[in-house]
Amino acid sequence: MAQQPFISIPLDIPDVRVLKTEITKAGELILTVESTLTSTTCRRCGRTLTEGHGHDEARLLRHLPILGRPVYLRIKPKRFRCPFCDDHPTTTQHLDWYDLKALHTKAYERQLIVLLINSTLTDVAAKEDVTYDALLGVLDRWIGHPVRWETLPAFTTLGIDEIALTKGHRNFVAVVSARTSTGEVHLLAVLPDRRKATVAAFLASIPLARQAQIDTVCTDMWEGYVRAAQEVLAHATLVVDRFHVAQHYRDGVDALRKQELRRLREELPEAQRDDLKHTLWPFRKRPEDLSELEEERLERLLGHSPALRRAYRLREELTRIFDTARSKADGLRRLAFWRQRVARSGLTCFDAFLKLFDRWGDLIGNYFVHRQSSGFVEGLNTKLKVLKRRCYGLTHVGRLFQRLTLDLDGYRHFSPWRTAQASVHGNS
Ligand SMILES: [Zn+2]
Repeated sequence: MAQQPFISIPLDIPDVRVLKTEITKAGELILTVESTLTSTTCRRCGRTLTEGHGHDEARLLRHLPILGRPVYLRIKPKRFRCPFCDDHPTTTQHLDWYDLKALHTKAYERQLIVLLINSTLTDVAAKEDVTYDALLGVLDRWIGHPVRWETLPAFTTLGIDEIALTKGHRNFVAVVSARTSTGEVHLLAVLPDRRKATVAAFLASIPLARQAQIDTVCTDMWEGYVRAAQEVLAHATLVVDRFHVAQHYRDGVDALRKQELRRLREELPEAQRDDLKHTLWPFRKRPEDLSELEEERLERLLGHSPALRRAYRLREELTRIFDTARSKADGLRRLAFWRQRVARSGLTCFDAFLKLFDRWGDLIGNYFVHRQSSGFVEGLNTKLKVLKRRCYGLTHVGRLFQRLTLDLDGYRHFSPWRTAQASVHGNS
């Protein structure tokens, strides 16, 4: 057999020397290392110990792979005896590159954390051949819960959103986030319910100096959020973001489309029924984003249903108001005109939205003053939706907090291609 070419590369682990390298039959690389540090700190009195006292059991820690091979570091931690304390207790030396309870080196755990971004535990467990429970341990070590305020940059906008955890049930958790002036979104909390008391208690737990910096609270249309924010962050402007508004008025129009499709499928002659196909996205998209083919499809659909055409036009008019209103007064005046057109149209698909508008019109109007807030609300809500679909059945708020933090913040904090930084809120 031809001679294999060999290379040597630095191990990049501090305070150790390599005693032995071996490759197992399974192709795993096992590096036996020993500590080069000759002292530790007494766990009882805190003094420096230099009197060796044997070793602990060997530990096998999974490390970053090399050329596709799984790598393990094998180490027998040194023990030291204290000559100062009465019964001379021993202390095991601990090195910085692994955690006491971990099965992996910190470097490898960091890689696992990056793999978990936008992914599932089951997926990563299978790809890396680690156990589900080991991954939970990694999450707990790297993403602490709750948030550690001192790790967050300054922010002036607070967002309160929500996700329904189970379909059909009104089982909502509230998601509180912060947006910095540079547009970064940081997760602050996932709250177990959306009652005012729960939300207010969390808002009150925000350090006072941080509370004072918050000038805008961007919230979904929900009594509990608004009243909690009014109570605790009285100095901030409350805004119902256009994203939340749009969700509601678009829902109503989507429902009308479904209803009309059902009717048309029965009433239209066979030959024209194809006109109803592939109309969902042409109908939902913004008109300026439609291709020629989509425009034709939309036109054929609307041609069969005057009611749907009226609803479509009113929906687009409303969107345009949110795009172009120059001030709160201008926005609210145009919304009032829009409302009259809805009344004349005879449509009922905007009724639910109008009810919300009656209740929250003033806060919706604040959007026209603080219109910059929209992108982050939409971005966060997209993440929430994706996370919910991916981690179906995940109902533990602490875990939701960790997973969402990772999705929002993971690359910024853990990517090896960026400047090394400490964990987000973790204690490692
Ligand atoms: Zn001691």
